[in-house]
Amino acid sequence: MGDDLASVMLTEAQIQDRLRELAAEIDADYAGQDLLLVGVLKGAVMVMADLARALHHPAEMDWMAVSSYGSGTKSSGVVRILKDLDRDITGRNVLIVEDIVDSGLTLSWLQSNLRSRGPASVSICTLLRKPAAAKVEVEVRYVGFDIDPEFVVGYGLDYAEKYRNLPFVGTLAPHVYS
Ligand code: 5GP
Ligand code: MG
Ligand code: MG
Repeated sequence: MGDDLASVMLTEAQIQDRLRELAAEIDADYAGQDLLLVGVLKGAVMVMADLARALHHPAEMDWMAVSSYGSGTKSSGVVRILKDLDRDITGRNVLIVEDIVDSGLTLSWLQSNLRSRGPASVSICTLLRKPAAAKVEVEVRYVGFDIDPEFVVGYGLDYAEKYRNLPFVGTLAPHVYS
């Protein structure tokens, strides 16, 4: 796997430190309130696992799977629900946990979908955000890192379903795409 990587963008330590900071903010913001973390499969698995363990809040977890990218590197703009939430979210404080916001298409769709179900609130936490996300009507309350508009892998993020298990975020060598 080492030969496939061009660079390490965020080390394991940088990611873990930042997630602890975000967890402290979330703990403070939701103190004494209900909180349901909604992880977006599969990319957010690592973020959810580490963020949730850094929280002191007795938050619940649920998962959704949506598809917008297929196996390539470009957003199709079409979002499909592959797996919906297990439970009703009426009256709940929902915090969507994402790996990355690129165009923002997936998240703005997801946020309005969840808002239509009558929750008390829907906020968003993402580990990574790319500049293009600024153009879309989606307010991200917790952002780990703003990054350059490059295609990244690792820490949950895949290329053709690979590299999700890297403990850091990096870029791929050109030979991998061709
Ligand atoms: P958006 O709809 O914001 O353009 O992107 C949504 C999804 O596309 C993300 O949740 C992620 O799965 C995928 N994606 C966007 N940018 C990247 C990237 O740089 N690397 C990888 N591996 N996936 C990305
Ligand atoms: Mg994602
Ligand atoms: Mg993907």
